[in-house]
Formats: sequence, structure tokens, C-alpha cells
Amino acid sequence: MTESAAEPKNTKHVVIVGGGFAGLHCARKVAADPNIRVTLLDKHNYQQFQPLFYQVATSLLSASNIAFNLRSTLIRHPNVDVKLVEVVSVDLNSRTVHTAQGAQYQGDYLVLAAGSEANFFNTPGAVEHTYPLYSLHNAESLRSRILAMLESADADHSLIDKGALNFVIVGAGPTGTEMSGAFADVLQSWKQRKAVHKAFWDLPLDRAQVYLVDAGHAVLSAFSTKAQEYATRTLTQRGVQIRLHTKVEEVGDGHVTLSDGTRILTRTVIWAGGLKASSISGLKTGRGGRIDVEADLTVPGVPGVYALGDFANISGKDGQPLPQLGSVAQQSGNWCAKNILLDVAGKPSEAFRYLDKGIMAMIGRDAAVAEVGEHRHEVEGAIAFAAWLGVHAALLTSTMAKIEAFMEWAWWYFGGARDDIVLDRSEELQVNWNEDTEEMADVSKQPQTAGQRRSA
Ligand SMILES: Cc1cc2nc3c(=O)[nH]c(=O)nc-3n(C[C@H](O)[C@H](O)[C@H](O)COP(=O)(O)OP(=O)(O)OC[C@H]3O[C@@H](n4cnc5c(N)ncnc54)[C@H](O)[C@@H]3O)c2cc1C
Repeated sequence: MTESAAEPKNTKHVVIVGGGFAGLHCARKVAADPNIRVTLLDKHNYQQFQPLFYQVATSLLSASNIAFNLRSTLIRHPNVDVKLVEVVSVDLNSRTVHTAQGAQYQGDYLVLAAGSEANFFNTPGAVEHTYPLYSLHNAESLRSRILAMLESADADHSLIDKGALNFVIVGAGPTGTEMSGAFADVLQSWKQRKAVHKAFWDLPLDRAQVYLVDAGHAVLSAFSTKAQEYATRTLTQRGVQIRLHTKVEEVGDGHVTLSDGTRILTRTVIWAGGLKASSISGLKTGRGGRIDVEADLTVPGVPGVYALGDFANISGKDGQPLPQLGSVAQQSGNWCAKNILLDVAGKPSEAFRYLDKGIMAMIGRDAAVAEVGEHRHEVEGAIAFAAWLGVHAALLTSTMAKIEAFMEWAWWYFGGARDDIVLDRSEELQVNWNEDTEEMADVSKQPQTAGQRRSA
């Protein structure tokens, strides 16, 4: 049992699971009341800024630009205690959570904000052989794998025929589109004799191929037709091969098989194909494995228990669940804190109202799409690109992080070399280049899975 010692009788205890956008905003706001004590539980000791994972994966930003220590972030709140633990189960009725480390935490209020994880939709081989992009660890592993492929192909050009420079991205939503655009920028920089080309001057990077595969009918399906067409046109012009109406049937150690029968040799498959709520037992889940909530963000039938952000199905004005976005998470975190403070004051809670500021996606240098506000005023190209940089810098947690990220972006924009190209995870170099033939010869062979290498 992990509970602190004596405390004033009127102090209320709020236990928050997850220090992401939702949990952190809730913690900060509720802790402004000195009569409240907060315990924030997270399996990482940092907040990770997921929208910029793909920039870490493509060496544009370093990990320290997008991960922020939770204790430092909350240093001004002495009534918040951060614990590095993994929550494995919940008892809703007693508002108690149990951790993998054997501890339990019970609060007057329990806030569930554990976010999402990759959903592989039972695609054979996807867990073992793809790179998801849902944690900092994932992003760093992917960066090392990309660098490992460049290094391997540079040392032995014949590996290009075995797929060393083929990169397959599964899912053409914002994450997959942004990732493809970043790859396309690397290819562009080769054409302009910049960045990666300067470092890998002996590597025929013109042979690199980037595939963006999606079972749906469009790139960026949540955006307008005009934005979809702009994104498709821009990516195609920059060399990305887009395969729509196409499912990934199976992923192997050295290939991916598509529903139209195409087999692409590749050692780097990036999974941006879907997400589900983080797995914690003891919860009744609804659509997307998420927790359905009432209008005031409480879990039905259990007053004092809230679910927020990506972890929850929060209804919008039209009754449909709101999308998994940073802005939904932030606003629900603040609103939950407000409702807890109302409850502590003996007042009724209020129904959550989401202020829709719009959606945006980066497609590459000077190219982005933005649909601003509830009425989706459309902007694309360089203006949307500038807006994207501004919005994401503003969302970063500390002033120093904002300045550093801006400096990195400016450096990139004006053609500076990416120097965060240290291959620090040597396991990503370990590739069996004869996989297909050996796989047929010895089916009992059990290689270490990508999931084991990249568990985070
Ligand atoms: C690659 C990517 C790109 C994205 N791009 C954008 C974008 O451009 N714009 C946008 O608005 N949104 C974007 N999103 C979505 C946005 O990042 C999420 O909606 C937002 O992070 C959700 O916040 P959250 O607090 O609900 O969850 P998270 O931010 O995921 O935080 C959950 C926290 O819970 C912790 N946790 C999970 N399980 C446990 C456990 N069992 N025990 C203890 N702790 C646990 C995690 O460590 C994490 O710190 C993107 C997401 C991804 C993955």
C-alpha cells in the first residue's frame, strides 16, 4: 500500500493515471487548490509530445526536444506527488488502482487518462515486424532502424535489392502522411545535395522508395476533399508512392504483402494504422477499446471516477465520439479538474463543452493543410506550414523546449544538415538479409520479435 502519512482532515486526494496532455492539465489545474493532494502515476517519468514523434524518427528533432520530465514540469506544485509505476488494474467502486510493482493507490477522486496504444487489427506479423509510433522509445527505435538501413546499404549496395531502402508506411491518416512527407523531404534533400546526402555521399539515395498504404479511399480521410487532393498531389510530386484501397495482408521480417498481391521487400514498416485505449484490466470498454463517459466526463455509475483524452469516448455536439487529439485531451483535462473542484465545493458538475479549433497536418517543407475552427476554414501550403510550426511550438511544455524546437526547425528550413544521426540502438543493425529463403528452410526458427526489442 503506498499512501502518504498524516494530512489535514479536509484534504481531498486525487489519483491520476497518465501524465500526458489530459492527466497533466488536470493535475496542474486541480493542484492550484492547496487543499487538494494529487498523486500522478505514469509508467514513464516524462510527458511525451506525440505529434512530433515522426520528427524524432527522421532525425529532425532530438528526444530532449519533445519529452519533459514530469517532476520538473510540476515543480511549482508541492501538492503533486509523481510516481513512476505502471497501472495494471482498476477497482472502480473503491477508486483504487493496482500497479505492476505491487502497490495500490486509492483516491477520493480517480482520473483515468492513460492514452492510447497501437491497434494492429490482428494483421499477421504486424506486432513482430512493424514499427509503431506511440512512444518516445518507438520513435528512437525507428530512427535507429532508418539509420541502420542507410548505413547497411552504404556499406553494401547490393542490400538495396533486398529492400534496405524501401520504407513502407501503413495508414494514411495524419501520422502516416506526416511520416511520408518527412521521408520525401529526405529524398528531396538528396536531390538538392543537402543534409543526408552530404553524410551519405556514396549511397545511391535515388533508389530509395517510400510507400504509403491505406485500405481507405483517401489520404487524410478526416479532412476535406480539397485538402486530401492537395496532400496526395504534394506527396506524389515529392516521390511518395501512394497505394489506396489496399490492405496490408501480412508483414514478414523482410517483406510486406498487400491485398492486391504486391510483395514489397522492406526492413522498415511503420505502423500508423490505428489505435486503441491503453490496456488496463477491470474496465468495461466501448468503441475503440475506450471508456464511455457521461457528459461531465465521469464513468457511468461510479461518481468520482473520470476518464479523459484518448482513453475515453467523449461525445461531441453531434453525439459522435470526439477524435483522439491533443486539444480534446487538454480541454477534457482542464474540465475534469473544474468538475472535481466544483464537487469538492458541494456544487453540481457541468457538461463538457469542446472548443473545436480545427485540425492540421504537416506534409513536408512549405506544405501543410489546416482546417481552422469549427467551420473548417481551409488553408494550405506555406501559410498552413507556418501555422503548423506555430501551433506545435505553442503546445510544447516549457519555454526552453519551444526555443530549441524553433531553432531546430529554422536550421532544417534553411537547409542545415541534420546532425542527430547517431545510431544509438545497435540492435536495429541486426538484420538477417537472407530471411525469405531461411524462413522457408527452417519454419521453427523464432527470431526475437520487434515487439520485444521495442517494448516500451
Ligand atoms: C504519432 C502521433 C501523432 C499525433 N499528432 C497529433 C497532432 O498533430 N495533433 C493533435 O492534436 N494530436 C495528435 N496526436 C494525438 C495526441 O497526441 C493525443 O490525442 C494525445 O496525446 C492524447 O493525450 P492523453 O493525455 O489522452 O494521452 P497520452 O498523451 O498518450 O498520455 C497518456 C499517458 O499515460 C501513460 N500511461 C499509459 N498507460 C499507462 C499505465 N498502464 N500505467 C501508467 N501510465 C500509463 C503514458 O506513459 C502517457 O504518459 C498524435 C498522436 C500520435 C501517436
